Amino acid sequence: MEKQPSSTNFIREIIDYDLSVHKNEDRVHTRFPPEPNGYLHIGHAKSICLNFGIARDYRGLCNLRFDDTNPSKEEVEYVESIKEDVRWLGFDWEEREFYASDYFGRLYEYALQLIRQGNAYVCDLTTDEIREYRGTLTRPGTNSPYRDRSVEENLKLFRCMKAGEFEDGSRVLRAKIDMTHPNITMRDPAIYRIKHASHHRTGDTWCIYPMYDFAHCLSDSIEGITHSICTLEFENNRPLYDWILDQLGVHHPQQIEFARLNLSYTVLSKRKLLKLVQEDRVRGWDDPRMPTISGLRRRGYTPESIRAFCDTVGVTKINSVIDLVVLENSLREDLNRRALRRMAVLKPLKVIITNYPEEGVEELDAVNNPEDPAAGVRRVPFSRELYIERDDFEENPPRKFFRLAPGREVRLRYAYFITCVDVRKDKKTGEVTELYCTYDSRTRGGDAPDGRRVKATLHWVSARHALSAEVRLYDNLFSKPNPDEAEEGEDFLSNLNPNSLAILDGCYVEPSLGWARPGERYQFERQGYFSVDPDSSSGKLVFNRTVSLKDTWAKVQKTLT
Ligand code: ATP
Ligand code: MG
Repeated sequence: MEKQPSSTNFIREIIDYDLSVHKNEDRVHTRFPPEPNGYLHIGHAKSICLNFGIARDYRGLCNLRFDDTNPSKEEVEYVESIKEDVRWLGFDWEEREFYASDYFGRLYEYALQLIRQGNAYVCDLTTDEIREYRGTLTRPGTNSPYRDRSVEENLKLFRCMKAGEFEDGSRVLRAKIDMTHPNITMRDPAIYRIKHASHHRTGDTWCIYPMYDFAHCLSDSIEGITHSICTLEFENNRPLYDWILDQLGVHHPQQIEFARLNLSYTVLSKRKLLKLVQEDRVRGWDDPRMPTISGLRRRGYTPESIRAFCDTVGVTKINSVIDLVVLENSLREDLNRRALRRMAVLKPLKVIITNYPEEGVEELDAVNNPEDPAAGVRRVPFSRELYIERDDFEENPPRKFFRLAPGREVRLRYAYFITCVDVRKDKKTGEVTELYCTYDSRTRGGDAPDGRRVKATLHWVSARHALSAEVRLYDNLFSKPNPDEAEEGEDFLSNLNPNSLAILDGCYVEPSLGWARPGERYQFERQGYFSVDPDSSSGKLVFNRTVSLKDTWAKVQKTLT
């Protein structure tokens, strides 16, 4: 599965060919056209990396264009979040921030031109009637009784539509193509509708709004786009894209479709993600369990890891589902290289070193990142009372348990060998509350001069110096690989994983993490990668587990080959 970065794909092959024949005056100009009706998700990241990546590699340009033609679902909040996310992913649209709504005037003129040419008409059928007249895959459609209106009547009615004289839904402007076309998209599609709604940019200037198919191709054309890259669902819309531009005789970009990204245990649809937010199934768009860019960022994902992931999955014309593990692995690889190592105890158990001086404190050297010698070392305080991980002790160890147990010696990372000599329990519950241990002062740094070995190395923190923290552990948001596969009468929400979030309060972390700032990422030794959550403050540290250490990648590779 090793892939060269920016490896070629069928879209790049098309561009290479176009450049070889000097199409588009040797220009390459793409765009990323989000509708500002929700936050961007990892699927959009694939489209962003593709469009901006092509522009970068071909010394071309990529526009950021908001496809804001539907006033009722769009909000400024979404526009701002989209800009933040694209920037964070590492891409720059420079001064080319465009809005389809900026073109409303020109689009209206283009519609008038189609009417004048006899290519469009105002239709008074109701939505239901239009559907009825449209026919089906096996049955051709029938012409609307309004199809043969004169140009003058159409011009007059369309102007009245614009002037606000008709109610929502009472009329539409339709392209006059062919009601018997084998492609249903071509059966006189609506290109303008009446909608008395305020728009986040144009206010109440308009009460008619262009449909996606009309606005999109013309926005591409107006901006001089050369390659209009979209997902496979739009394959059926391509003939309409071409038809509109051909009828109007304007600059004609080439629409190219690729397979959208699907991820297991995830939904990638803004509508569904919005539902999770609105119904409080998650803690907002940036909930670390969400596949949104803002959620991934809060979880601790790096832009580099997301770009590497997009490169790994590649660009094809075949729909498939990518295993979530592939995404997690790209993050592990990145963080393994960069994240500083720290010690944190998530489920603490007190250890008292009986032969260590009561007031004694030592500062021990700990390596910041074995993958990066330049990261240096830090000092970690050691004292008589420590915390270790509760799971690292077993009073009656099973056969393969090599960590701490009564009478057994283990290594404390960067510190000493300790031996458990006594166990204290809660009288009522029987729960282990404290371990009494002795340490061997000759093993400072973690090596025995006599060469004796131990079978386990544990992480720990000094009780007196440790900082308390909250740690949030995440599991898949959905419990089924395909969340849309729901029982009869249920929807994807029924597949939500009730255990996707576990909050551990009362964790202890080493004191150097007192400097940790929101957004930073660390490896907690033996536990995984963690990011500092924006909820974190000097009064209360809050960490998200970004991804566990365990590399299930090897397993996945096996199943792939
Ligand atoms: P959703 O289905 O999540 O609502 P959308 O396609 O309606 O997505 P847009 O804002 O229209 O959202 O998408 C902007 C761009 O991102 C489009 O070019 C679209 O094709 C692309 N895109 C959306 N989802 C994916 C995906 N899962 N994989 C790849 N590209 C995607
Ligand atoms: Mg869309």
